[in-house]
Amino acid sequence: LPPLPSKAPIGRVDPTSFSRYAGATRFADLPISKKTKDALRQSKYTDMTDIQRACLPHALCGRDILGAAKTGSGKTLAFVIPLLEKLYKERWNPEDGVGSIIISPTRELASQTFDVLRAVGKHHNFSAGLLIGGRKDVEAEKERVNELNILVCTPGRLLQHMDETPNFECSQLQVLVLDEADRILDVGFKKALNAIISQLPKRRQTFLFSATQTKSVQDLARLSLKDPEYLSVHEKA
Ligand code: ADP
Ligand code: MG
Repeated sequence: LPPLPSKAPIGRVDPTSFSRYAGATRFADLPISKKTKDALRQSKYTDMTDIQRACLPHALCGRDILGAAKTGSGKTLAFVIPLLEKLYKERWNPEDGVGSIIISPTRELASQTFDVLRAVGKHHNFSAGLLIGGRKDVEAEKERVNELNILVCTPGRLLQHMDETPNFECSQLQVLVLDEADRILDVGFKKALNAIISQLPKRRQTFLFSATQTKSVQDLARLSLKDPEYLSVHEKA
């Protein structure tokens, strides 16, 4: 992969392919379900942030994304919305099993993402679970994990289920999210991530978000993304 340009214009939009939505500035203008729009409005989200404006038209078209933007720029909705829409378009049902996996570096970040997913996905009929280490009873979790459609997890706990949970199945996975990828790698999860990715179906959509573009993030991008759109949003000087 070429290095991520540090000042890529917002959106880097190809006007021939999806010009209708490339210039959208509000969630209400996007081609997304009423269920998602209603929840966004009820959560008081109206205008998109720069990274959301850059990512959502591409992500909603089914592309892989390598996204860079600093903490606090609104990256969560840039992947939560397209993953909900993808499962909705596929008419995913609770009995269809794991359709999406979001991997976060820490329990705290995973639970924050889970809260956003719950708020924005509240009118959808998907089951979601937070799979993180710690006090939670992993044995009880093993009984339920195959009934979940969306998993928000830390790499260690996900790999534990892949290794130990009988019948753990993600062969139908539609969307993989690697959130805060630089931090996932910083905390030493490189091997776990590689093991996880090697067990996932290749035909899927993948979003990789990272505040910084290190060599190891580039390696991970090369391993996990297919012909990605590079979207980098930095503060104006
Ligand atoms: P990041 O993952 O880039 O650090 P978050 O997704 O956690 O950023 O969002 C940071 C904060 O901005 C959160 O409090 C979130 O609720 C808020 N936020 C995100 N998108 C919007 C938006 N479009 N309008 C208003 N607030 C937003
Ligand atoms: Mg984040």
